[in-house]
Amino acid sequence: MSLPDKYVFPVYIYKDILDEIKNVCKKAKLEVFGYLIGTIHTWNKKTYIIIEDQLFLIGAVHSDKYSTSQIEGTAGKYEKKFQKLKRKKNNQELRIVGWWHSHPGFSCFLSRTDLHTQEAFFYESYQVALVVDPIKKELAFFTLDGKSDNRYKEISYAVIKP
Ligand SMILES: [Zn+2]
Repeated sequence: MSLPDKYVFPVYIYKDILDEIKNVCKKAKLEVFGYLIGTIHTWNKKTYIIIEDQLFLIGAVHSDKYSTSQIEGTAGKYEKKFQKLKRKKNNQELRIVGWWHSHPGFSCFLSRTDLHTQEAFFYESYQVALVVDPIKKELAFFTLDGKSDNRYKEISYAVIKP
């Protein structure tokens, strides 16, 4: 893999992992979410992440109906799964680089609840939120941005084809 070249994207994701997430979102009629697992890299003083795996955690109803406490409640379950994944991949560098969830039919953005989730659990500068709308066939990556009125911004990404 020859990465990066002249320009570095903030996010790189393997095509099979992205396809896996898209498929889960497509199959579920309700909102679903999971974690993005990957590694952190620096090039020319720019930090970027490579998403190498994902953990599908729970199906939820609409984003405004699941609370951050529900996400917190899954933390123990997630920790076990995550350690298992690390062992399986034989990669201790793996960490949680963000989360993904679906917005079936209502486009890609961060709702107030989503923003709260991001600020409470994924506040590291490298951590991102991937939102997938399987009905409109849209997806977007977001990160917190204190300078923006919305407190978040969309960021660019590149798909890695093995
Ligand atoms: Zn949402």
